[in-house]
Amino acid sequence: MFFRSEKLLIPLEKPASPDPNGAAAIQELLGGKFGEMSTLNNYLHQSFGFKEKKKLKPFYDLVASITAEELGHVELITTAINLMLEDSLPEGDPTSAPLEEAKNLRNTHHSIVGGGGHQVMDSMGHFWSGEHVFSSGNLVSDLLHNFFLETGARMHKHRCYQMTTNAAARNVIGYLMVRGGVHQAAYAMALRKITGVEMTKMLPTPNIDDSKIPEARKWQAIGSHRKLYTFSNEGEYADVAGVWSGPADWADGEPLEVIQGAPEYAAEGPVIGGNTSLFSPDYAPEEIYEIAAQLMKKGGISPLQPNDGLHSRFQGSTSDSPGASAQEGRKTMEEPSEKKKKSKK
Ligand code: MN
Ligand code: MN
Repeated sequence: MFFRSEKLLIPLEKPASPDPNGAAAIQELLGGKFGEMSTLNNYLHQSFGFKEKKKLKPFYDLVASITAEELGHVELITTAINLMLEDSLPEGDPTSAPLEEAKNLRNTHHSIVGGGGHQVMDSMGHFWSGEHVFSSGNLVSDLLHNFFLETGARMHKHRCYQMTTNAAARNVIGYLMVRGGVHQAAYAMALRKITGVEMTKMLPTPNIDDSKIPEARKWQAIGSHRKLYTFSNEGEYADVAGVWSGPADWADGEPLEVIQGAPEYAAEGPVIGGNTSLFSPDYAPEEIYEIAAQLMKKGGISPLQPNDGLHSRFQGSTSDSPGASAQEGRKTMEEPSEKKKKSKK
């Protein structure tokens, strides 16, 4: 099972202006054959169907740890797409065709279907498919496939980087290139442990130097290109060190590190806004409180007090905040009225 955090893998800032065609291009990195949906689902299903995972634990731990990271990559690239689409749908008198420009955007699904939001598709509008998942039950074949997948993923990221100057896109791509390099190296090391074959010598591809990209260089500077994260605080995937240890050839021979848990630089993500009047009701906590108060009055339940549980919950408080006990009290008051209703029937 998985735990969830409100943090994004890296801090991400809103772009200065909408960039819907940039968003359409980097859809490839979400829903393309070599996108994050593919890396996630390949490793996810390989880990679910892994044969002899206790006997082959370092290799299982590798696939399982990278699976968890890829889920965070799906979140990261999706957030970048949505930030680039923010405010991409102008509002106005419908008869004046305020959305006319949306006809000329590369991806009309963003506007029509997504309401200015991402789609689980590639840059050409093909929906992501489970056909992109390779899980053969043969560890060597799966690892070889994963190496190739990371190779293609880095190539596509490098090309997308060159298609946009959007800061949100470039920040995410730079980070994902560094992490893709870690995954590529990790699968190569796993293959070397099992078969003795040196993948990176046999296939030195793609020939991409991350240090030429400022948005990648900053992650190298803090050693992210040498670290593998387990995304578990229980120590359950610690045997990944059986694969990921020793000197990093690609980092001046500095030591590879396994980090228990998530990266320390993970940060709360930006709130995506825009188009509320077109696509969602305006949310005002006070109004919802008023409606709830009226409903409770009709139902013969004691009226809400401004500081009681329900009200303060709408303000984002927690269960131990003032008023939470009043909320508990209300629950016990509801029970007799429920019973009354039933006994009337
Ligand atoms: Mn990834
Ligand atoms: Mn990866």
